Amino acid sequence: MSDDIPFDRAFDLAPDRVEEIAPGVRRILADNPGPFTFKGTVSYIVGSGKVAIIDPGPDDDRHIAALLDAVRGETVTHIFVTHTHRDHSPGVPAIKAATGALVLAEGPHRPARSLHIGETARLEASNDLDFRPDRKLADGEVIVGAGWTIEAVATPGHTANHMAYALREARLLFSGDHVMAWSTSIVAPPDGAMSDYMASLEKLARRSEETYFPGHGGAVRDAPGFVRSYIRHRQGRESSILHRLSKGAADIPTLVRAIYIGLDPRLAGAAGLSVLAHLEDLVARGIIATEGAPSIAGTYRLAG
Ligand SMILES: [Zn+2]
Repeated sequence: MSDDIPFDRAFDLAPDRVEEIAPGVRRILADNPGPFTFKGTVSYIVGSGKVAIIDPGPDDDRHIAALLDAVRGETVTHIFVTHTHRDHSPGVPAIKAATGALVLAEGPHRPARSLHIGETARLEASNDLDFRPDRKLADGEVIVGAGWTIEAVATPGHTANHMAYALREARLLFSGDHVMAWSTSIVAPPDGAMSDYMASLEKLARRSEETYFPGHGGAVRDAPGFVRSYIRHRQGRESSILHRLSKGAADIPTLVRAIYIGLDPRLAGAAGLSVLAHLEDLVARGIIATEGAPSIAGTYRLAG
């Protein structure tokens, strides 16, 4: 099913090691590997002397110490946050306290839609609900630092507040969890929304940056082509859902079994939510129907 995306899982950065990956761009890996985080969260340092940090990462003493060590003798002027999942933003308070840097992001965490009964617990488990930026960024806003220029690129879908950041001097884009070389992005309602996610992919496919540096794993090369393969992959998944529903009504576990072959059992819950994201979108477009609001427990059928 995912053979259509030219994944690249090559990534051998050890935790705490600082690596220069482009002129004026360094990266450092947090030691929080897992099924959703791959080898761990990657934090980036942009510039030299007066620098910006993109995604301080989890609230992990060792990673925060390594990050501060990497910028010893320099001034951190800005902290950019791609989104408010717990593997990206909870390191902000410690880095801000140590550096006094200005924290910039799209905004606090918020779901992509209003919540159904029972969804609150899941939100609190994965989200950094305490995060507040010093300054909210709008789509297209440009921040000029000492020798670097960063454009905020609103990319909702993985979360409602997801921002990518384009570094103009190096013509590259920090893509957060929206586009990653090792895996597709998780789009899980109510944090995520498939219609937003697809629109954000279309937006990136029209941009000129050839290289993306994501929140997990290594660089995305030939990025516009890679983004188009992501789009085709989701269109293919939508077709698979519709094909299964053409044989009769089905619930989400049935759809997951029909669509995800050889799924890592640890990802079954995420796969169910990803299918829900497609179903919400298909219901909104009037292509399929369910009783009441689309929910994880619902049964779905073709409309009409
Ligand atoms: Zn992440």
